[in-house]
Amino acid sequence: MRLSRYFMPILKENPKEAEIVSHRLMLRTGMIRQQSQGIYSWLPLGKRVLDKVNAIIREEQNRAGAIELSMPTLQSAELWQESGRYEDYGKEMLRIRDRQDRPMLYGPTNEEMITDIFRSSVKSYKSLPLNLYHIQLKFRDEIRPRFGTMRSREFLMKDAYSFDLTQADAIHSYNKMFVAYLRTFDRLGLRAIPMRADTGPIGGNHSHEFIILADTGESEVYCHKSFVDFDIPAADTDFDSVDGLQSIFDKWTSVYAATSEMHDEAAFDAIGENERLSARGIEVGHIFYFGTKYSEPMGAKVQGPDGKEHLVHMGSYGIGPTRLVPAIIEASHDENGIIWPASVAPFDAVVINMKPGDEGCDSTCDRLYVALQNAGKDVLYDDTDDRAGTKFATADLIGVPTQVIAGPRAAAAGEVELKDRKTGARETLTIEAAINKLTA
Ligand code: ATP
Ligand code: MG
Repeated sequence: MRLSRYFMPILKENPKEAEIVSHRLMLRTGMIRQQSQGIYSWLPLGKRVLDKVNAIIREEQNRAGAIELSMPTLQSAELWQESGRYEDYGKEMLRIRDRQDRPMLYGPTNEEMITDIFRSSVKSYKSLPLNLYHIQLKFRDEIRPRFGTMRSREFLMKDAYSFDLTQADAIHSYNKMFVAYLRTFDRLGLRAIPMRADTGPIGGNHSHEFIILADTGESEVYCHKSFVDFDIPAADTDFDSVDGLQSIFDKWTSVYAATSEMHDEAAFDAIGENERLSARGIEVGHIFYFGTKYSEPMGAKVQGPDGKEHLVHMGSYGIGPTRLVPAIIEASHDENGIIWPASVAPFDAVVINMKPGDEGCDSTCDRLYVALQNAGKDVLYDDTDDRAGTKFATADLIGVPTQVIAGPRAAAAGEVELKDRKTGARETLTIEAAINKLTA
């Protein structure tokens, strides 16, 4: 992408309305634009990052055996009347009437709709286990939308829903998502800690919020420090192994971790003072086993091996991609701007032409730009007439992992300078060697 032809409306000043660094940086870099309170457009740079986050979420959901579909944002109120949640949901639900005066709503979540899809076509235990997910916009009329897309009214959610014949099978489905979440957040460059969450009337130990530690987080959290060293399950984890997944779950839930709602002061105090952590955190995911809470009122049943009808056991599993993007920035930035983990960087490299019009600079940059693109890399080419200082500041601000700097003197010698955004380390390489390094 040539910067001169791109749409990246960078702000010179720090936006005053933004209270936390991720919100500031997302506005400054032109990743997002607020359209009305808590409702955002994702501009091209932001959209690139969001797409990469979604791609990783999708890969890990698929690896764990979940199947993607797409459900609408607008739902009929009828389904929600069946489950009893139409009245219960309160003011967070945006209620709408269509031209026939039928009550509709902008979905805040999809348990009812997926249960309806399930009951309309699945009749036998032989079709189970089943886990269906989508990545779709939700709307919740939050009392306090704030911090940009961290807590917005319209936001993206990956929501998955599992269906099983028995509670034991449902726990295995739960563990699959538990492991998928550990892998997902790790690939996004984050250390997310699963913390026990309230299960309400369902009871049991099968609701976890995945929390990233950050000073600007909205949740108060308490945990054992050893989480930092726990191993992330490998890509070749056998998701069909009931015992294998259970042992991963057991390991990751073997030490104390809770948000303030579930906090047990005595248990926390029992941990040595140097071993424990009380901090603030951002909830980026939430998984929940809820048994027959929806299958019962909505009549979602399958025929079991015994020939009888059984209510299915369900769970739901959410991740917030539009919250994850600012969460990644909260975890990875410095005074000059964002430092993207390579896995979600909007571009792999930015080629900076220090002197457009200089034959050496132009031909060097053209060569790099073509070679890197041909190797499948996402490259931003700063071919603008901005001052060198502006170009460096922009490259640092938008946080692309590698900067390739082509100045007239080096270019004449067939060389470029590589700068690592994270460490600041610089090295001079021949053009050939730079291409090899960046495409290795
Ligand atoms: P919170 O306690 O932060 O309001 P929640 O418990 O209401 O979250 P869930 O219903 O479990 O959230 O939704 C699953 C995921 O969707 C959350 O873990 C979060 O990543 C994301 N999410 C929820 N609400 C918002 C929001 N208003 N803006 C952005 N992302 C959100
Ligand atoms: Mg909420």
